[in-house]
Amino acid sequence: MTDLPASVRIREVGPRDGFQNEPEVIPTDEKLRLIGMLARSGLRRLEVTSFVRADVIPQLADAEEVLSRVERVDGVAYSVLIPNERGLERALDHRERFDEVNLFLSASETHNRRNVNRSIDESLAGLERVIERAGAEELRREGVISTSFGCPYEGEVPVERVLEIADRLATAGCEEVAFGDTTGMANPRQVGEFFDAARERLVGVELTAHFHNTRGQGLANVLAAMEAGVESFEAAFGELGGCPVPPGSTGNISTEDLVSMLEEMGVATGVELPRLIEASRAAQELLGRPLGAHVLRAGPVDWTGTA
Ligand code: ZN
Repeated sequence: MTDLPASVRIREVGPRDGFQNEPEVIPTDEKLRLIGMLARSGLRRLEVTSFVRADVIPQLADAEEVLSRVERVDGVAYSVLIPNERGLERALDHRERFDEVNLFLSASETHNRRNVNRSIDESLAGLERVIERAGAEELRREGVISTSFGCPYEGEVPVERVLEIADRLATAGCEEVAFGDTTGMANPRQVGEFFDAARERLVGVELTAHFHNTRGQGLANVLAAMEAGVESFEAAFGELGGCPVPPGSTGNISTEDLVSMLEEMGVATGVELPRLIEASRAAQELLGRPLGAHVLRAGPVDWTGTA
């Protein structure tokens, strides 16, 4: 097998990607409790909310309150998803409460239009202003490109097109670019070839993989990405979430599955799996879901600590 990294970085996106896509609106106090549990599980990157319009995504209408009340644990980088300049303005009212911004667009015109009602060029022009402004505020910037591995409306998305968008984001100042498999269309061979090309094109940029498990290929894609040199991943605890466009798209790979696989393969994550599973169980109970197989399967593991 190709050399695997000794350790990887994981960004937990459940409090945004997950909560946003669950049908229920989770009470703010409960969100804060779950985020606190996640922050104490050894996760070092936490996306806590999104400054989208409340009328569009009522599940995250409490973004201001979440951000201003979230307990800050040492060593954890807190990030917020920002759709546009107005969103950044709102977040900056709480500048001292977060460290990173995550800025998103799609690699497919149709998905971008359905998601944010703009063309890709319009999105890029707006994001370039946001990236500059966030840089002036000394925020770390992650560009997130949805439908990087395929679009439910357009089908195949050319690798060259995705990398061109990534290049624009990096040139504008993003320190990190994440590639989202928004509706779980990627396969491991495609992922390996994609990241080989991305590493060649985007030198000095942190490359992050964001996989969904729609067709059960999420973890296989993680392995393929690692073999192609990727050392940064995003996942959602409790396998929460998905994508509202198109309706019915299922969720992210679960963070507990990811951590479990990596640790058993000898790739350090820094996460204490039992604590993470506790947070996943708490979320499942709160939402009244039966415990997913991924939660039951993941334990018990002989666990010795952090790295
Ligand atoms: Zn996602």
